[in-house]
Parts: sequence; C-alpha cells; structure tokens
Amino acid sequence: MIEMTDVYKTYSNGVLAINGINVKIDQGEFVYVVGPSGAGKSTFIKMMYREEKPTDGKILINGVNLAKLREKKVPQLRRSIGVVFQDFKLLPKLTVYENIAFALEVIGEQPRVIKKKVLDVLDLVQLKHKARSFPNELSGGEQQRVSIARSIINNPGVVIADEPTGNLDPDTSWEIMNIFEEINNRGTTVVMATHNREIVNTMKKRVIAIEGGKIVRDEARGEYGIYD
Ligand code: ADP
Ligand code: ADP
Repeated sequence: MIEMTDVYKTYSNGVLAINGINVKIDQGEFVYVVGPSGAGKSTFIKMMYREEKPTDGKILINGVNLAKLREKKVPQLRRSIGVVFQDFKLLPKLTVYENIAFALEVIGEQPRVIKKKVLDVLDLVQLKHKARSFPNELSGGEQQRVSIARSIINNPGVVIADEPTGNLDPDTSWEIMNIFEEINNRGTTVVMATHNREIVNTMKKRVIAIEGGKIVRDEARGEYGIYD
C-alpha cells in the first residue's frame, strides 16, 4: 500500500536528504524507521504524507502517486493518513474533545456522528474523562494519547509517527506503544521513526534503517542497531 521507487530528495539549500530509496510496505504492517540523526528518517516519513515532495521518483499510497499529486488534492490525502508528532501539535485553545472533533467538523460531518466517533476514539486511548480538559491541563503522555486519537478519527489506513515517544519517560512510552500496537492489530499500517532502542528491540517488528539517505538494512524482526 506504500511503495517508493527510486526516490530522491534534495532540499532547496542543496542538501541531499534521500538518496535513492526503494521500499514496499504492505497494509497492516508495523514498521520502525531507525538511524542516526540527520540520516533522512523525517524526510522519508514526511514524503509519505506529502509534507515534503520528492525531487525524483514515485511514491504510491493506495495507488496515488504523491510525487504528482496536485496541491488541492493534499487535504483529501491527509484524511486517509494519520500523523503523530513528537511535540503532539494539539491546538492549545481547544479542549481535548474539540481537538479531535476538528477534523470531522471541517468536512461537515453531522454533530451526532462526530460525537460518537470522538467518544469512541477517546475510549480507545482511555481519556473520555478528560474530554473537557485543555491540552495544558494534561501530562505529556495524555497529550500524546489525544494526538493519537485525533490521528485515527477518520479511520485511516495508515498512521505515521515521527518520534512519538521522544518527549516521554520510559513507562509512558510503553503505554503509547501499546496503543499503536492496538491500532495496528485492527489492521492499520503503522510507520514510526524512533530513537527508542528498548522498544524496538523488545517489539521485534520490521525495522528499516536509514543512513545517509539510503536504506542500509530492512529486516522482518529487526533490532535497533548501534545508533544513539
Ligand atoms: P533525521 O530525521 O534522520 O534526523 P532529516 O530527514 O531530518 O533526518 O534530515 C536529513 C538531512 O536533511 C539532514 O542533513 C538535514 O539537515 C537536512 N534537512 C532536513 N530538513 C531540511 C529542510 N527543511 N531544509 C534543508 N535541509 C533539511
Ligand atoms: P457517554 O454517553 O459515553 O457518557 P457523554 O455524552 O457523557 O458520553 O460525553 C462524555 C464526555 O465527552 C463528556 O464529559 C463531555 O465532556 C464530552 N463531550 C460530549 N459531547 C461533547 C461536545 N459536543 N462538545 C464537547 N465535549 C463533549
């Protein structure tokens, strides 16, 4: 469902961030993306939801080539992909409920449907009791759970996460990882860039290692490797 063919990315400052990547990720897979800082992990991931455009090559997501996708079609693409960030990116002036409902309101979903969907995802991340709270009233782990709930509100086929446990302590990181595993168990593809060695080595999922903009390792039940 995600397929990159001969993908290159050079930023406008001349930095070659991705230097010829070929990869295929099937529906329902759980993939860790590892590698040293500056290796190109974020760029690799950003190209999957068209935050960055490749300079060359083909990126198919569910048959749509993101390299050629018109700008006005990007919002539609984003609804089929959930994205989770290290710093949560919740809207500070909106409640937990409103942060999650937002994506459904902009597409004109009925209030009744919105309420059911929001409460369902809040249930999954066990935060129904915090629906009326504001992000700054929550712990880091709770904020990340809200952000995960928001990412799956449109029932996307894939969830992409860039260092989702980067700001969290080890116990909280494991809670977050268990939620991603639950989402994956329901059939959603998960692609996650991480520096969390313990989690990667314990979970025994597919590991794609990137160094210098290239895939240097791709193992079905992989390990983190030698990186910091
Ligand atoms: P990683 O996520 O593995 O740390 P990145 O994809 O963020 O790697 O970065 C890969 C390379 O591209 C680095 O050399 C970085 O400095 C550069 N880079 C990343 N984003 C930009 C940008 N917006 N403009 C210019 N260079 C960038
Ligand atoms: P349940 O029927 O499962 O008990 P509720 O309708 O009581 O669910 O709602 C659970 C929480 O969700 C409430 O505490 C409330 O804070 C929040 N909530 C429900 N609907 C809205 C809404 N339209 N706007 C903001 N928050 C809401």
